[in-house]
Amino acid sequence: MPTFEEIWARIEAENVRFIRLQFTDIVGHVKNVTIPVEKLEDAITHGVWFDGSSIEGFARVAESDMYLKPDLSTFAILPWERREQATARIICDVYTPHGDPFPGDPREVLRRALAEAAELGFGYQTGPEPEFFLFKRDASGRPILEPHDGAGYFDESTDLGLDVRRQMVNALQALGIEVEATHHEVAPGQHEIDFRYDDALRTADNVVTLRIAVKTISQRNGLYASFMPKPISGINGSGMHTHQSLVRLETGENAFVDPHGEYGLSAIARWFIAGQLAHARALSAVVAPTVNSYKRLVPGYEAPVYVSWARFNRSALIRVPSISTGRWQSTRVELRSPDPSANPYLAFAAMLAAGLDGIRRQLEPPPPAEEDLFHLDARRLSRPLELLPNSLAEALDALESDEVIASALGPHLLSRFIEAKRREWDDYRAHVSTWEIERYFEIF
Ligand code: GLN
Ligand code: MG
Ligand code: MG
Ligand code: MG
Repeated sequence: MPTFEEIWARIEAENVRFIRLQFTDIVGHVKNVTIPVEKLEDAITHGVWFDGSSIEGFARVAESDMYLKPDLSTFAILPWERREQATARIICDVYTPHGDPFPGDPREVLRRALAEAAELGFGYQTGPEPEFFLFKRDASGRPILEPHDGAGYFDESTDLGLDVRRQMVNALQALGIEVEATHHEVAPGQHEIDFRYDDALRTADNVVTLRIAVKTISQRNGLYASFMPKPISGINGSGMHTHQSLVRLETGENAFVDPHGEYGLSAIARWFIAGQLAHARALSAVVAPTVNSYKRLVPGYEAPVYVSWARFNRSALIRVPSISTGRWQSTRVELRSPDPSANPYLAFAAMLAAGLDGIRRQLEPPPPAEEDLFHLDARRLSRPLELLPNSLAEALDALESDEVIASALGPHLLSRFIEAKRREWDDYRAHVSTWEIERYFEIF
């Protein structure tokens, strides 16, 4: 953790004028309040007070006073504002007037889950692969549902996003995020930026930062970046596959590795996988939390549909990536249901809780399913596979009846989350869509 003096030295060296204090609401929207740099010391000592009742899912009017406590380890200068009024951001934790961490703060929920892992001797590392679309804007600057290019997976000559993605990578590197790779994805206008795995709290912060960076850079290039899970039907949606491993806090070694185990996996890894499979349906409500998420999780678009795991098969919900010889330490498991509409703090907390439950109960996973599940007729499977929820409503039911995932969110956040998401579902349910008009209007 850098000291105030160290940060102040950077502020002076880079002539930073403003500090943007950031946090996220329960649905993962980034909130911020900006202070002139002269107020930073006061903000660190006394916190920055705000009205929690105006933040989605935070508090009711009677319990609304709370304050932000800047986490100095997240200090970063925003590269796209450098030439104008240099601005830095600091991600904050939310506190109640009594000086306790606020239980409705998603970052606190993840901290709690990480503390549980630490009690078992583990650290939790995640490496997400966020996907997104670049769309065009009309003459007045409004985003339109027209992909920016017609390129496909790894294309080069037709990829119109090459330069914009390069700018994004530069910005992310300047923000201290180590980018592993970026490429055009399968769908027209669709892209992916992978960054280095890290401690889950740091990666959740990075996901939030990436969304802001990607949107800002796109805007500066006359484009619109959307992380909506399934913006266009009939083509791939955007996922946020997440690679995960547990590290032994004592030795720093990857706890998922056993070169003699099946697939090179340790018992800890197998139990972790089994835990995530056991809680997969409830997890969906947190990792794929929008009405639209369930339009991505359908057969035929490289998104998982069945609760299954595999070594090679990319249609599985959990995949164990192949490891090149001699790189055992990078053994990990990839969960493929998350999408970029998820609040990354809550998503990682719930994923970890599911895995830890598997470890505590020493759950063995079912045999891996290596057959291609994308185009498969579930009824013809040798062994029946459970399906992921097919709607947000079904996922919320699963969440409410899953004690492990529910208690990972904690009673406060859980009730606000369910309330907000049920409202979202009810609103959708009552809406008459274009599909219905096209299908029924003239035949009845
Ligand atoms: N876009 C796909 C999804 O929704 C993933 C495609 C890929 O990364 N191979 O999960
Ligand atoms: Mg990828
Ligand atoms: Mg991808
Ligand atoms: Mg992947």
